Amino acid sequence: MSSDSVDLIKSAGVVGAGGAGFPTHVKLSAKVDTIIVNGAECEPLINVDRQLIEKYLDKMYEGLKVAAQSTGAKRVIVALKEKNKGAVKVLEDFKQGSLKFEIFKLGNFYPAGDEQVLVNEVTGKIVPEGGIPLNVGIVVINVETLINVANAVEGRNLTRKFVTVNGAVNTPKTFIVPIGTPVLFLIEACGGATVSDYGVIDGGPMTGKLVNPNVHAVTKTTKAILVLPETNIVVIQKKRDISKQMKRAQAICLSCRMCTDLCPRYLLGHDLFPDELMKRMYKREITAEDISNFDYAYLCCDCGLCELYSCVVDLSARSLFHYLKVELAKAGIKNPHHREALTENEFRNFRKVPAPRLLKRIELDEYTSHADLSYDEIEVNEVKLFLTQHVGAPSVPVVKIGDMVKEGTLVADIPADKLGSKIHASIDGKIKEITDKYIVISKN
Ligand code: SF4
Ligand code: SF4
Repeated sequence: MSSDSVDLIKSAGVVGAGGAGFPTHVKLSAKVDTIIVNGAECEPLINVDRQLIEKYLDKMYEGLKVAAQSTGAKRVIVALKEKNKGAVKVLEDFKQGSLKFEIFKLGNFYPAGDEQVLVNEVTGKIVPEGGIPLNVGIVVINVETLINVANAVEGRNLTRKFVTVNGAVNTPKTFIVPIGTPVLFLIEACGGATVSDYGVIDGGPMTGKLVNPNVHAVTKTTKAILVLPETNIVVIQKKRDISKQMKRAQAICLSCRMCTDLCPRYLLGHDLFPDELMKRMYKREITAEDISNFDYAYLCCDCGLCELYSCVVDLSARSLFHYLKVELAKAGIKNPHHREALTENEFRNFRKVPAPRLLKRIELDEYTSHADLSYDEIEVNEVKLFLTQHVGAPSVPVVKIGDMVKEGTLVADIPADKLGSKIHASIDGKIKEITDKYIVISKN
């Protein structure tokens, strides 16, 4: 039964809906003691998971049963922020069947939903450096992913995504949309932007990516589309290129160490010291020859706290670490940091960043809309399905231009012997365009 379920999840193209997009069939093939359902939703302005718990808990529970059976987990914990009282009440009132789950109420801090932070908060365990929760017998899975797991086991391929559209738009909403829906279409569905010059982010303000709204479309991992004024610090930081970030680090780092003292991975005992990196930037030490001296960059989880919260002069250790990770990979240098015996910093509990203070610091406290879930049917005439919207190799098209497809038809497959995910048509229509990056399906 469980291997059949995993096959169905693979066939349906389910990947982690809350972040990187790790293929769920691989995650649920592991044997673990504990499953943590990640309902933390710690990034500001995203309102998906709490609403899914309130509206679709039955479905999430079905997915949870499949996940527990596949992994053999004996303990199941649903973790969400205590402040989301509506979702907490729905969970507390839920009539649990044969599978029992516990509820863990998280504080309102960032990044409560980071997998390693979450594991520590909920179980007290510390995931090894460079490791994943599986290393300590735990699978962390997102609320929406579980709903997709339940649909997959019912034979429904993944074609829809829950997306919050928030920020500088007239009516923020959370939609259920076909994967591949153009971003501009969603902004229009919210009554348009309230400012003329804006940046658009796919994801949360801290870890999301700045995207071109004229060409970008919803992927399997798009949790939010944020429209923010061009003058907002989040947009400014994400627009700075790496050479500008390096020059700024060389010129104005105060060596105050705040970036390290508040870094969530450092606080879990990892050998990650963003202030040390910034000091070395001052001495201009990064060259192709000594890139291997920066392999600790692999320990950075891109949470963005050092970039958008900790640094008083708006420097970005995160962007330098990101750059280094790419260069290290190009040089064929793997992460050598795998220490297991880690000790939590004694001040960790006092250094958790309160979410309301973060919201103010990144100048987003005026956008507090709940972005209610809209049940309006979203009709799009064209979708763009990216071939990479998951961890692993790009999917390989199995259709050709002119083919007619129905919603749910397989259009791109996992390459042989690779980690990846299948992609299905999200609307009925004709294959209009195929490139090495995406497939376009049009109704017309
Ligand atoms: S982004 Fe900054 S704060 Fe976050 S893990 Fe990386 S170095 Fe630490
Ligand atoms: S917080 Fe900013 S100024 Fe202070 S050490 Fe880090 S990068 Fe330098």
